[in-house]
Amino acid sequence: MSLRGLRGKAVDSTTLLPVTNFLSLFVALLAQQASPVDVLIRGGTVRDGSGAPPRVVDVGLRGDRIVFIGDAAATRVVANRTIDARGLIVAPGFIDPHSHVLAGVANANEQARHASSALMQGITTVTIGPDGRGPFDVARVLAEAERAGVGVNLYALVGFGTVRSAVMGNSSAPATAAQIDSMRALIDKAMREGAYGVGSGLFYAPQSYSSTEEVIRVVSAAKPYGGVYDTHQRDEGSYSIGLLNSVREAIRIGRESGLTTNLGHVKALGVDVWGYADSVLRLMKEARADGHMVVADQYPWTASGTGLSAALLPRWAQAGGRDSLQARIDDTQTRERILVEMRDNLRRRGGDSTLLMSNGSAAARRYIGKTLKQIAAEKGLPAVETALELIRSGRDMGVASFNMNETDIETFMRDPFVMTSSDGSDGHPRLYGTYPRKIRRYVLDKPVITMQRMVQSSSAQVADVYGIAERGALEVGYFADVIVFDPVTIRDVATYVEPERLSVGMRWVFVNGKAAVADGQLTGTMAGRSLRKAAK
Ligand SMILES: [Zn+2]
Repeated sequence: MSLRGLRGKAVDSTTLLPVTNFLSLFVALLAQQASPVDVLIRGGTVRDGSGAPPRVVDVGLRGDRIVFIGDAAATRVVANRTIDARGLIVAPGFIDPHSHVLAGVANANEQARHASSALMQGITTVTIGPDGRGPFDVARVLAEAERAGVGVNLYALVGFGTVRSAVMGNSSAPATAAQIDSMRALIDKAMREGAYGVGSGLFYAPQSYSSTEEVIRVVSAAKPYGGVYDTHQRDEGSYSIGLLNSVREAIRIGRESGLTTNLGHVKALGVDVWGYADSVLRLMKEARADGHMVVADQYPWTASGTGLSAALLPRWAQAGGRDSLQARIDDTQTRERILVEMRDNLRRRGGDSTLLMSNGSAAARRYIGKTLKQIAAEKGLPAVETALELIRSGRDMGVASFNMNETDIETFMRDPFVMTSSDGSDGHPRLYGTYPRKIRRYVLDKPVITMQRMVQSSSAQVADVYGIAERGALEVGYFADVIVFDPVTIRDVATYVEPERLSVGMRWVFVNGKAAVADGQLTGTMAGRSLRKAAK
């Protein structure tokens, strides 16, 4: 596969410069004679997504396309509207490969479909299939999303978990040959309907009950179509097979399925594996040297976001679903076994003060913003018994789990095969602040990566990995997903206590040529489209 953003683009961009200029000139002359550009973004510092050094040039949009990049004055481009972008950065709209912002988009309310939290970060395209929970009825979901209207573009990964549940429910049994055939048929259909690959979440029950071989047999149904095997891997810490074996498993599944492996939200989760970032990157590098493409995406936060039960319960206790879990908790001996394992899982994550309740049902609202330690103190119970009581009473809560260290985050971030993602989900500030935070904290305040690498890892590289055509870069002829931001003021504002605060510094966000953010304000425009991967 080609990774345009990674291989020799610096060389390409100099050798191709005369051609690009010629094309721009040609298009500009056409523009002048035919019709003016709709929008001219003038004098900004253009980071085109390729990773090449910035250029101060003008960018012209007409309809839903980029039609001009160059010196507008010299080529006498006429514009209906001109934006003064001096001192601002002009970049391709960000593509978020791990997001929950449009989860259940077909049934989501209008406010959710606007995806304002994403737009104010400069995100113009998101996936709807992380963690194995993407749809299998891809054609229907994409059509309904488009009919209802969406603020950002979306693309689907068919969910291994969704497919497994449709065929096997919550069963922990191995799949029969007939069940594997049924799952493969659903994946084949989803790929024909335009999915960009398959997502899995082997950490989560019931997906966790599938063996490596079973996952390969099912997922390889996508092989004829190519694409990505994206995974919330089986173990990001020391829960079951361990982080490194889990990475090996993800690589093997991708390789044997004929799909690029993407380690979703790559991290070293928990004290037992802190310092393992180098080892994970080494395994990825070895696989690439062996001919299998392996990449990862990452969010720049030390807390992950998950559910209280996913974080603490042993998977065997969840087999069969909610009723079976309830019965196990009510059985004294089984309850003891569950508590023993929960104690170890809590230790792995860093203890009761590192779990912050972030969202939940109305009945659980009073716990939001408190740590498990605080709730346990209120109840006068040990931490794990408090957690089990919350889970038992049906109040499974979302938690922010502080389990990563900065050194691992920075090590992953510096790797040229690690992209940006938000994993944006309710109750965690990453839904509102990820991309501005990465720019503010890791590019401007403490330079861990350069601005061009930040833009590349958030746009062109994602488009290349997923095969998203004509997006992710500022090129003449590409779709006009274009952002303009202020490198002086850009920052995240959302916090763990107030996670729903919009980021600042994003001045203009164009989605398919329409301004969704104009002069720093949301316009309410829903110009997003459902993207479908073209058949090979
Ligand atoms: Zn995940």
